[in-house]
Amino acid sequence: MDKKEILSKFSTDPERYYKVKLFENEGFMRKSCTICKRFYWTIDENRINCPDHSDDTYSFIGNPPTKKRFDYTQAWKEVESFFQKNGHTSVSRYPVVCRWRDDLYFTIASIVDFQRVMGSKVVFEFPANPLVVPQTCLRFKDLENVGVTGRHFSSFCMIGQHSIPNSQGYWKDECVDLDYRLVTEQFGVDKKEIVFVEDVWEGGGSFGSSLEFFVKGLELGNAVFTEFQGDLSNYRTLDQQIIDMGAGLERFAWITMGTPTAYDCCFGPITGNLIEQTGIDTDSELLVRYFTEIAKNFERFNDLSEVRKNAIKSAGLSNEQMDKIITPIEGIYLIIDHIRTLIFAISDGALPSNVGGGYNLRIMLRRIISTMNRLSLKFDINDMIDMQIDYLNDTYPELEETREDVKTIIAIETDRYENSKSRMQKIVSKLNQKPTVDDLIRLYESDGVTPDYLKEMKVISDIPSTFYSKLSELHQSKKQKEQDQLSLEGLPETELLYYADDPEEFDAKVLKSFDQYVVLDRTSFYARGGGQEPDHGTIEGFDVVDVSKHGNIVLHELKEGTIKEGDTVSCVVDSKRRGDITKNHTSTHILNSSSRSILGSWVWQHSAFKEEDHARLDITHHSALTDDEIVKIENLANSVVKKNMSVNIESFDRGAAEQKYGFKIYQGGIVPVKSVRIVSIEDFDVEACGGTHVKKTGEIKLVKITRTKRIQDGVVRIEFVSGDTALDYAKQHDVDLARESAELKDKAKLKETRHEQKQELREKLPILVENITACKIGTNNVDETIVVMTEPGKPNFCSAMSEQYDEFFHISLGEKLIEKDPWMVYCGVFEDGDRIRAIIYSGEQVGKDKKAGDIAKTVSEVLGGAGGGTQRFAQGGGKDKSKKNDAIEKAKTMVLGV
Ligand SMILES: [Zn+2]
Ligand SMILES: [Zn+2]
Repeated sequence: MDKKEILSKFSTDPERYYKVKLFENEGFMRKSCTICKRFYWTIDENRINCPDHSDDTYSFIGNPPTKKRFDYTQAWKEVESFFQKNGHTSVSRYPVVCRWRDDLYFTIASIVDFQRVMGSKVVFEFPANPLVVPQTCLRFKDLENVGVTGRHFSSFCMIGQHSIPNSQGYWKDECVDLDYRLVTEQFGVDKKEIVFVEDVWEGGGSFGSSLEFFVKGLELGNAVFTEFQGDLSNYRTLDQQIIDMGAGLERFAWITMGTPTAYDCCFGPITGNLIEQTGIDTDSELLVRYFTEIAKNFERFNDLSEVRKNAIKSAGLSNEQMDKIITPIEGIYLIIDHIRTLIFAISDGALPSNVGGGYNLRIMLRRIISTMNRLSLKFDINDMIDMQIDYLNDTYPELEETREDVKTIIAIETDRYENSKSRMQKIVSKLNQKPTVDDLIRLYESDGVTPDYLKEMKVISDIPSTFYSKLSELHQSKKQKEQDQLSLEGLPETELLYYADDPEEFDAKVLKSFDQYVVLDRTSFYARGGGQEPDHGTIEGFDVVDVSKHGNIVLHELKEGTIKEGDTVSCVVDSKRRGDITKNHTSTHILNSSSRSILGSWVWQHSAFKEEDHARLDITHHSALTDDEIVKIENLANSVVKKNMSVNIESFDRGAAEQKYGFKIYQGGIVPVKSVRIVSIEDFDVEACGGTHVKKTGEIKLVKITRTKRIQDGVVRIEFVSGDTALDYAKQHDVDLARESAELKDKAKLKETRHEQKQELREKLPILVENITACKIGTNNVDETIVVMTEPGKPNFCSAMSEQYDEFFHISLGEKLIEKDPWMVYCGVFEDGDRIRAIIYSGEQVGKDKKAGDIAKTVSEVLGGAGGGTQRFAQGGGKDKSKKNDAIEKAKTMVLGV
């Protein structure tokens, strides 16, 4: 059966599913819409159609049906006080990042706050009954509607009215009565205006009949009476029925204000402020006309551009009015909406990225920037963040704490986008035809090019309506759970001794033994879980190489050997290994909190791994860590170790733990059991965790970060060691450092000596030149290293070859010599690594005939290499060290002809 069939089934028995006491008491009539045939309840005798098909649809725009006017924050105060005075507890909102469910990135409805998944079952846990909550919900499927339709938001406040029918809570009659009185008494809407439409709602493995309530065509809320479990064709009554009434706070504000759009009354003074900054000449009569048509047309057409086109026609707007008023205003609405969503998401620890839920946040920020560029709007993003948080302060004071962190993250992300623009421009310039939706998705997924950027660059004029929903689907892949292939049915839960007195040696009974596997009635072997690697040790002398948990049964894997079922066996846990892993585990908690306090509130544990001799912690962070940050994190962690803080482990009811410590306890992911084990390191760190921990942080001795790396967008890996491994590491590190610094010292010394030698040479050089040019006819040795042949007016030759002379020396001497004596040829030969190099200078006179280039070429051939240069200067060389003298002799012969 599908939803339609269930609805018609329920509607054939309205007494059972829809009729509540209120309808009888107030004289509501049940009618069927003349157009769509849906059933609805009203006290207005003249009403003939459902709210979607009535003439008064959206007639509240410009003409609100209430005497009182409430904006967004005032509207919540009204709702809250109404429910409080009617016995409800007002609960603070839950995070928009849905840490307690592994099938959702973001909180999408108020009821999600109270749903916990256990196995394949969804259970409800209420902190109070009945209750009301202003739950911020994030939804990204209709992003293209935001700013355009007047009523779609990427995040909105769902007023959640929830109750379990028992001695404290209530069921249908009281629920609908309360909603009716909220709308009529508290908000002052005339009784005739409220219409209840029969419907069905399903989700999360359960469903029930529901009554949607409308005023002037605007759906304000939907009261769902969740009473069945299963799917629509195969279901049974739930053990625990639930009232799940969700209403849009934005709509309650809108209906009392009657502004052209909901955006005009839900962001406080911000909308007006931005419009004023741009100097748009808003004409409220025109806006009322246009947005009323948009609202009416929205249900009639599937495509948003059709909706827009028809509204323009019906409202009679000119192109100029569209360009000068409507288009920029739509941009402003979009910007304000998206910024508010980013504030909530980043405050609750989500980061823009290209993976998981983060991609939504990245695409929204890019939309904001593209929209501002396209419309030449010059808003200061930080100012907008400030205005939003100031305005939301009444309802959500917690946003104050992360005000600066939100700005930091948005600034980093904006820079990244600006830096990728030239690359994006290149990609866009290569597009030679209008991209399809699939092209658009590929462009975004692989190159980060958003459709809004293409709109900004005028490549496309509209974003296809299926783009965001397609992209959303692409990123909604749920984690696949491993299926157990092992036959462990019928076995009782293993008694976990490591959660009790944790003995190193113990006896246990063998319940099952197959292949290399053993199941015991009780065990002290820690089974792999929460990133902590399993214990090793022996069972009856056989090595235990792996321990895993399957449901509540612990499976031991032996390296070899078989054990008989029914036997009692003696077991020994490798306590050295366990101790090292334990230290690494507690260190993970310490490093996680240290990272958050050094880096920022957006840091969460992404995942962790704890082995005997090494461990790693992956955290959510926007950039690679700097050396300074690493040192600070390590120092803070070690200060916690030094303070020898107590590590306490207590069991809590899950709901109580969440209320007491908040959702930060879920660093290691969701906890699928009703009782959670809370591990706290005094007031430094509190986490829900099933691992083993030291009793005092001092036992850890030392934490050393060995390496950090940005492993994916928004995730940084910290590799570390602790305990004796850390001490060894530090010792080795000190030795390495000492060696490095000794090497450095040697190098520095060598450099210094060279420098001194050069200095000396510089001073010696003029004298040397003097001495060489003063040589008399014939062969003269200036010293044992320099040989000179001179004869005035004829080619002269000077050569130098010694270990102590380097390139600098030869160049300096050669230059000076030919300057002083135009008949001089200088040939310097020296070793440079594994090569022999030759430097040749030829004076102006002698060079006409004896070119330096020719000499270098020949000399190099002798040395087994190649060379060349100009008439004046040349160089070359080779590898044959035994030919050094031959090379000089050859040069001499070339010059002097002897
Ligand atoms: Zn209808
Ligand atoms: Zn842990």
